[in-house]
Amino acid sequence: MAPIRDDTVTDLKDLVAKLEIRVRQLEDRLGRDGAKPRTPSQSMRMILMGPPGAGKGTQAPKIKDKYCVCHLATGDMLRAQVAKKTALGREAKKIMDQGGLVSDDIMVNMIKSELATNQECANGFILDGFPRTVAQAERLDQMLKEQQQPLKHAVELQIDDSLLVARVTGRLIHPASGRTYHKIFNPPKEHMKDDVTGEHLIQRTDDNAETLKKRLGTYHAQTAPVVSYYQKKGIWSGVDASQEPGAVWKSLLGVFGEEKPAHTGMGSSILSKIGLKS
Ligand code: ADP
Ligand code: AMP
Repeated sequence: MAPIRDDTVTDLKDLVAKLEIRVRQLEDRLGRDGAKPRTPSQSMRMILMGPPGAGKGTQAPKIKDKYCVCHLATGDMLRAQVAKKTALGREAKKIMDQGGLVSDDIMVNMIKSELATNQECANGFILDGFPRTVAQAERLDQMLKEQQQPLKHAVELQIDDSLLVARVTGRLIHPASGRTYHKIFNPPKEHMKDDVTGEHLIQRTDDNAETLKKRLGTYHAQTAPVVSYYQKKGIWSGVDASQEPGAVWKSLLGVFGEEKPAHTGMGSSILSKIGLKS
């Protein structure tokens, strides 16, 4: 047998930690609904709002995992069009690099088509980056009313503009999956490489201080009124997004009326039983 080295132990610990997280997620799903398919009234249908860099793309995958719903990020969808160099992608890139908004018609149709065809949306959805104008919000409401599937939550990640420069200029993304890292706050294990696929990470062309200023201007002028729109509808909740990511997640669970799962689940005891955890 090869000699045991420090990095062998570290790798094993890493693997066990990942397994524990996965087991907890699966237990949580089973414990919550016995893995039964959800009815429309049980499913999660929500929007995640907040300025660029607030943490929507960081938190949404956790919500997606917990509720088995789709995560529709309109910015990611547009960037996919840009990467494919479609006519829409070419037009959108100009607007995105100027910090403006793509037309309501295009965005509403994009969401409409995803909700109708994406199998992952069968249990519900998280909309991230949509709606960004009151007109988009009204058209979304109309669409969901026709399907008798109204929104349950409109969560606003609240954070001061001054904290966003560091977050946005340090952001790294894995374009294929939308996974997000940060040079300082959440660095990848290997420099500029995605933890899961090992593929190269990139910085968005609009993630610079100058474009961010314009994007924030657009947010306050056109998207902030969407907050009042959902406040009036009675489904708005605010979460302090300046906290560390784990605390933001805990606050989100509070909004959904869920307790953070205990860390003493079956997964831990199985690992103890097989001698992998004391
Ligand atoms: P959004 O999707 O709202 O634009 P992201 O989730 O992509 O924002 O987060 C922007 C950057 O800030 C990313 O690099 C991410 O790793 C980092 N980040 C996200 N949440 C936090 C947090 N709570 N504290 C510190 N950095 C964070
Ligand atoms: P995001 O990835 O959410 O930061 O979005 C990046 C850019 O895509 C934005 O600055 C807008 O130019 C464009 N965009 C994304 N979502 C929308 C939307 N719902 N309406 C209009 N433009 C959008």
